[in-house]
Amino acid sequence: MIENLLGRSDDLVTQADVCVIGSGAGGAVAAAELAGAGLDVVVLEQGHHWTSSEFTQREDEMLPRLFEEAGMRQTEDGSIVVLQGRCIGGSTVHNLCYAFRTPDPILRLWRDEHGLGELTTEAMAAPFERVERNLKVKQIREDEVNAMNRAIRRGTEALGWSGFVTKHNREACVQAGYCILGCSYDAKQSMLVTYVPRAAQAGARIHANARADRIDVSGGRVRGVVGRVVDHAGIPGARIDVRAKVVVLAAGAVASPDLLLRSRIANRSGQVGRNLHLHPSVMVAGLFDEELHGYRGIPQSYYIDEFIDLEHDPYRGYVLMPIIGFPVLTGGNMPGFGRENYRWLKNLSRMAGLLVLLHDRSAGSVAPGASLSRPRIRYTLEEADRRQLAEGLAHACEVLLAAGAREVLVPYWNDPLVMRRGDDLAGILARGVRQGEISISATHPQSTCRMGGDPRTSVVNAWGESHEVRGLFVADMSVFATSIGAPPQITTAALADRSAHHIVARWSEFARS
Ligand SMILES: Cc1cc2nc3c(=O)[nH]c(=O)nc-3n(C[C@H](O)[C@H](O)[C@H](O)COP(=O)(O)OP(=O)(O)OC[C@H]3O[C@@H](n4cnc5c(N)ncnc54)[C@H](O)[C@@H]3O)c2cc1C
Ligand code: SF4
Repeated sequence: MIENLLGRSDDLVTQADVCVIGSGAGGAVAAAELAGAGLDVVVLEQGHHWTSSEFTQREDEMLPRLFEEAGMRQTEDGSIVVLQGRCIGGSTVHNLCYAFRTPDPILRLWRDEHGLGELTTEAMAAPFERVERNLKVKQIREDEVNAMNRAIRRGTEALGWSGFVTKHNREACVQAGYCILGCSYDAKQSMLVTYVPRAAQAGARIHANARADRIDVSGGRVRGVVGRVVDHAGIPGARIDVRAKVVVLAAGAVASPDLLLRSRIANRSGQVGRNLHLHPSVMVAGLFDEELHGYRGIPQSYYIDEFIDLEHDPYRGYVLMPIIGFPVLTGGNMPGFGRENYRWLKNLSRMAGLLVLLHDRSAGSVAPGASLSRPRIRYTLEEADRRQLAEGLAHACEVLLAAGAREVLVPYWNDPLVMRRGDDLAGILARGVRQGEISISATHPQSTCRMGGDPRTSVVNAWGESHEVRGLFVADMSVFATSIGAPPQITTAALADRSAHHIVARWSEFARS
């Protein structure tokens, strides 16, 4: 059962074996695996249950429907836009379907330096296989690579740099290109059309417009979750009270630590909300003579990994990813007002974007803010990371110019740099990257309730269970021990699958207490 609670005036008071908070890449997988094993599962999701018939392909309607703070969530200083989902299916409803397993050197780093010896490549194989099967992960075909991605590939190959066409989780994709606004064709294999219906079929009670406000703990073990029915703006109504033997927190790497801190639990280590990595990214735009219509077809199919070598250094590097949005998202990322902004936007059909996405070592924090829907996100790029981003911008310009761009734009808010073939790209390195001076966005917040073997330096163990509170699990991107340096949805889902199977294996123990 999937029920929108919007407008419900009577309180929802119930019991369950497990209460799952959040229905994105982590929560949906946990709910489906737990319900499939016969447990009585209640899911609380603060966002609405929108379906493909309501995906109108319009930015003005879909950004407020699918995104936290209508796509305008920012770090406290306003220098970085943080994009996250807020609906049944979470961020998977608007994501771009790159489907990567956790890189082996990252798993090794987590084993060797974070006490997570259990996370071997062999142990992760079964969860990865299950998740990939259920999300129908497959190689993107050559004929599905759109003109913009082909142009970027052309530039990469001309420079002799490393890049490849990726895997994705789409089935019978009609290449409409609207992925970031929700897929009207149910071709994108997001949680909305895969694990959420599976969980419902297995008996999970999935409540939308249901926000968790506090996790109850007593005697060292979890007792339940209290919250409120909320409307689209997060305005609270009727009360929700779910008594449960196990709670799986999967509200994403911003809301999960916020909820733990507000509940004043599971934080003897002082690590809840710390170690925030963002994979901060900056888009360089190239203007071509040819029509590319980058917003048509699969938005991201190519991936440039020339500047990341995790075997050599698992902490550093960056990747380059093709991207171009629709007018609001793209215009908001471009400098200039009025005429200057329009000069670029009116050429959207001939534009290709290349995102520099940083595998960041810089670590920020999340803390409760003035309201539940506005946690305080703090993040400052370290000097070495700023240098890497600047180097990435120069390399992104090189790719676009080698692909045939007439000019490229580096999006400094004041005096943006416009570079042409033959220009000295060292100007970008000299100018560098400083927060507040250039458009930066983040789509992968992570690591704020990190996993680890040592309760003094981590929040949860290798199975996602709190070191302190029995029966409290975290199963979202906040458990990553470090920045992952790759697209994160498959890792998030596989770790949640693993946590769910662990809960099932230990169920008699949880049921007794
Ligand atoms: C624009 C964009 C593009 C992306 N593209 C890719 C890609 O191509 N490949 C890839 O691997 N990854 C991609 N990602 C990242 C990927 O989607 C996320 O890694 C993944 O969805 C994170 O899963 P999660 O479970 O941590 O959180 P989410 O999927 O964000 O789910 C968290 C859910 O919890 C809900 N919630 C929050 N607080 C509460 C509360 N108090 N009570 C109840 N519910 C709550 C939220 O509404 C949300 O639905 C992209 C992300 C974005 C933003
Ligand atoms: S490109 Fe494919 S997955 Fe994306 S919106 Fe279009 S049909 Fe859906």
